[in-house]
Amino acid sequence: MHFETAPAKINLTLDTLYKRDDGYHEVSMVMTTVDLNDQLSFEKRDDHKIVIISEHQFVPTDQRNLAYQAAELMRKTYRIQEGVTITIEKNIPIAAGLAGGSSDAAATFRGMNVLFELERSLDELAELSKQLGSDIPFCVYGGTALATGRGEKIRHLPKPLNAWVILAKPSISVSTRTIYTALNPGQQAPASNDMAEAVTAGDYQKIIDTMKNDLEVVTCEKYPEVKKLIDNMAASGADKAMMSGSGPTVFGLVQKERQAIHLYNALRGCCNEVYRVRLLG
Ligand code: ATP
Repeated sequence: MHFETAPAKINLTLDTLYKRDDGYHEVSMVMTTVDLNDQLSFEKRDDHKIVIISEHQFVPTDQRNLAYQAAELMRKTYRIQEGVTITIEKNIPIAAGLAGGSSDAAATFRGMNVLFELERSLDELAELSKQLGSDIPFCVYGGTALATGRGEKIRHLPKPLNAWVILAKPSISVSTRTIYTALNPGQQAPASNDMAEAVTAGDYQKIIDTMKNDLEVVTCEKYPEVKKLIDNMAASGADKAMMSGSGPTVFGLVQKERQAIHLYNALRGCCNEVYRVRLLG
């Protein structure tokens, strides 16, 4: 039996640059992991099957699960004969813009690497993982990174600083594909290179001033409750409030614990799902 932790990620920036000929958007984003985790366990089986177990009613346990797809790809690539049982304790909200499925898949690449004693490097696993999803290579490494291309090209950055993150998820699910389809890319000046500098310098004020997500305007237009939540979080004391990924999760950053507790309590009054976590970086 082997265990892996799969952390959620937030975007400090998300620049959409242009739509490529292959249909993907060229993006540039700074992502960082936060202390809100799914827990996965991996156990060998003799019957060659990939079995996913999850008690969460919305986690698919068949081929639709990204962890299943990762296990299948690992088996095929490294000619693994045995099967595997993957148990997912789901704590990251689903379809929330926090890359929960991608992080589970990334944990599966790492977990099977250990379980089957493959001794492959994280670079090799990240390279393999990009076949399944653009955010998975980042999740294979975790930490903080500047991601470019369709999100799969990773430049590692230092941890952004000690900060508290309040996450609030409205009770709607947002399809990433729908938001990208409605997007008009390249409308706003990119911020990710400046953010990479701010993170490298450990400059909290510059991080706050540079945060930006091009998808926010699209999601907020479709779901006004997301805009209301951002405004509410800013008014309740967040140094900066912004949407993560394609949403609908909104997060706010603060530096002191008492500010974090205050913000958490203020948000709990208006949103069912609120989390107070730390940047893992
Ligand atoms: P991203 O930020 O990468 O767009 P997300 O956080 O918005 O991802 P996920 O939680 O990864 O979205 O889930 C999106 C869909 O993927 C869900 O509707 C679910 O059916 C499917 N899915 C596949 N595998 C998983 C998994 N391991 N955990 C959760 N959802 C999964």
